[in-house]
Amino acid sequence: MPKKPASHLNPRSPLVLDTRELPRRPGAMREVVRVTEAPADLGVEMIGVAQGAEISLDLRLQSVSEGVLVTGTVSGPVSGECGRCLRPISDSLTVTVQELFAYENSVLDETTDEDEFGRVQDDLIDLEPAVRDAVVLALPTNPLCREDCPGLCSECGVHWDDLPADHSHELADPRWAALHNLTKPEE
Ligand SMILES: [Zn+2]
Ligand SMILES: [Zn+2]
Repeated sequence: MPKKPASHLNPRSPLVLDTRELPRRPGAMREVVRVTEAPADLGVEMIGVAQGAEISLDLRLQSVSEGVLVTGTVSGPVSGECGRCLRPISDSLTVTVQELFAYENSVLDETTDEDEFGRVQDDLIDLEPAVRDAVVLALPTNPLCREDCPGLCSECGVHWDDLPADHSHELADPRWAALHNLTKPEE
């Protein structure tokens, strides 16, 4: 099977992990606990982790016979807009990651595709796709500022929270307004 040329990973990228400290001996383990900056596009259209926001990695890198198993959590702040009223939403999110990266030229490398398992490239592994998948899965497709957000009045665009209970536009038609004024007692 022809191999795709390995794209070079940027060791300074926030979710690229260096495995040089991890002995290639099954069972060997290293912890990566650090705060880094969120990469771009960590989320969906309406909500996500803003680029550059502080995200916390709490990961364990474990040497297995065919590669490196990464498990742990990534947490960070989430910001977005309510799908009904467009008010800003801020929240936090913790996702679990569990991802196996194959050593170059291992059996796992030779027998699987890169979209099945990531690859250890020059002792580096790129956790970004796995983190992105986990974050996108954990985010609501229709984010709401609160579960029962009533949204905006479709006529005037004001939030229903800020309108009186009897708010209506039934008298917006000038002819009806005129009629209404006729029936109003003189003040
Ligand atoms: Zn809302
Ligand atoms: Zn209205």
